Amino acid sequence: MDDTDVVDIAEARAKALGLTIGQFRNRDNPYMEHCPKCGAPMMHANIGRENWAYCDQCRVKHNYGSGFNAWREHNDDVTRKLNTRDLAAFYPLSTDDFFGPGHEEWFKAKREREAKRRGDATV
Ligand SMILES: [Zn+2]
Repeated sequence: MDDTDVVDIAEARAKALGLTIGQFRNRDNPYMEHCPKCGAPMMHANIGRENWAYCDQCRVKHNYGSGFNAWREHNDDVTRKLNTRDLAAFYPLSTDDFFGPGHEEWFKAKREREAKRRGDATV
């Protein structure tokens, strides 16, 4: 299986689920956000404690949380203002936009599978 096969397989799986390739990848890889529009890895910027992933190409942004990346969260005033300005015109993606339709059920099923694998019957 070469890299082209992997992309083809992932795209086919995404399509079968009614997802974009970026949404498909976002479900299984919590450590690298992908643009749900173009599928490219997203860049990161903090504004204060708020953690944003964004795609320069598609001009979209997704707030993935608050207070992660502690080593980067201490923006000084200039950085905070620059990041705020840079991302101001970007379209804010909802959780549905980012993970695709049906993500809540998908994550619930994933948690259940993981709990079962651990032998934890309480979830
Ligand atoms: Zn994009």
